[in-house]
Amino acid sequence: MAFTYIFGPVASSRLGRSLGLDLLGSRICSMDCLYCEVGRTDELTLLRAPYVPADVLLEELERWREGNTIFPDHVTLGGAGEPCLNSELGAIIRGCRRILPEVPVAVLTNSTLMADPAVREELALADVVLPSLDSLVEEEFNKLNRPCGGLTAAGIAESLLQFRRMFGGKIFLEILLAQGMNDSEENLALLREFVKRLGPDRVDVTTLSRPGAYPVAKPVAPEVRERWCGEFAAFCPQEREAPGSVFLRTGQRADHVERDQKTVADTVARSLRRRPQTPGQLALSLSLPLERVEHALAILLHEGIIHRAQGMTEHLDTHEPFYSCQ
Ligand code: SF4
Repeated sequence: MAFTYIFGPVASSRLGRSLGLDLLGSRICSMDCLYCEVGRTDELTLLRAPYVPADVLLEELERWREGNTIFPDHVTLGGAGEPCLNSELGAIIRGCRRILPEVPVAVLTNSTLMADPAVREELALADVVLPSLDSLVEEEFNKLNRPCGGLTAAGIAESLLQFRRMFGGKIFLEILLAQGMNDSEENLALLREFVKRLGPDRVDVTTLSRPGAYPVAKPVAPEVRERWCGEFAAFCPQEREAPGSVFLRTGQRADHVERDQKTVADTVARSLRRRPQTPGQLALSLSLPLERVEHALAILLHEGIIHRAQGMTEHLDTHEPFYSCQ
């Protein structure tokens, strides 16, 4: 069954088995981050609009539910941009609850629209909000995140604090580090103080694991990331959930679902349309045996649907090739 705005479920280290909903339909964002793994922002805006109308998205979700007996751990609202730009965010969250009442709703956000009280109200309908904030040093923020004019790191931090005061769900803060851009001691000190005030349920310090939109963005060394993680240790999980497991409605576990090779190839192509990935990353996120992914990649390469991605592989902690469908 083909879906335009639903993808997955994929294995997420923070959300378990996550069923993704794309609220934008294309690369529409309030920032143009150097490290963005879905590519360069096509439409840089702060204008809210029904980029993907709620009724279209929810009709797909109804169909997904009809055809699936396996439930994800979360329904995750995101897409190739900033989901809060969708002016029907509130209706979409309510619709997810109606269609999949047993599944918590998570929202990924770059936090830039939280200054708007209407956005905060809508976001507060979710169970988990995953905001990102990479730097509180304005110069670093501008250089790395390349936001719409008028946005400041200090303003975003203040909005997040306002949101925390009204939100009863969980907040998982993400800080992405790029080498030489926001890994400064000044930023670490400012973020440490901010995290103390925010009191998130967890903090995830990450770095690039895939080629970013601009080759200038490079991952930090593992020891740098570990040191930053240590600084936020009280909020960092000691153990990650083992990816690659799903729960059946009956409560049984299933390590993967048998799928025919065409379906696997379609699934792999759809995933690569969203971001370049290595065979290992695909196997992990799609919960598929590596050999099936490799077979699907060979078919897709032969058919000219995908290609080996050129870029910054040499800077990443992997020797596997990246494949792309863009
Ligand atoms: S990383 Fe997120 S916030 Fe940054 S440009 Fe990409 S989609 Fe937008």
